[in-house]
Amino acid sequence: MRPATHTWRPAACSTCQDPEARLVRGDSDRTDIVLCTRCLEHGHLPYYAPQDLVKELAPTQVLACSSGFLQIGTPLPPDGLAPSTARVVDLAETKALRPGWRTGRVRHDLILSAPGPHGPAGWITVGARSGKILRGTITSATTRHAKGVQAVRALIAALPAAPCPPLCDAATVEDCLLPTRS
Ligand SMILES: [Zn+2]
Repeated sequence: MRPATHTWRPAACSTCQDPEARLVRGDSDRTDIVLCTRCLEHGHLPYYAPQDLVKELAPTQVLACSSGFLQIGTPLPPDGLAPSTARVVDLAETKALRPGWRTGRVRHDLILSAPGPHGPAGWITVGARSGKILRGTITSATTRHAKGVQAVRALIAALPAAPCPPLCDAATVEDCLLPTRS
């Protein structure tokens, strides 16, 4: 058996938000859609396009059909992360950066991508042997680079907590990040 590479959870329905909802394949004549098992009971049409679900995923997440319904796979973190690295991952989580790992042999990349059209995005590089943060790059209104765990942590800490609503209508990232828009 291959070692597990992802943790899996059922894909949620963002329309009815019923925790019992499962997204299943369409009928044989509508294999291009997925159906929510609970939407009808909540008074919604249950039909969804798979590509819309993919848009809601973080860059490192994958969608797969297993046990008859759609599930979201999140890559497991690499072994041997330093405590200082784990704390920065937690911080990125609180900033809604949806941190996700791309594990390598020499280095690991933590991919950051907040939802919404103007959400900050970037990556943090971690040494595979040390488990420590080497450097990071974040693009928000501007692109900033940082070297070492302290500077990378400061870069993330400086980001607003919820920078961009999913349906943000600001024309530019500068407008979106105006404090009055919250
Ligand atoms: Zn639903």
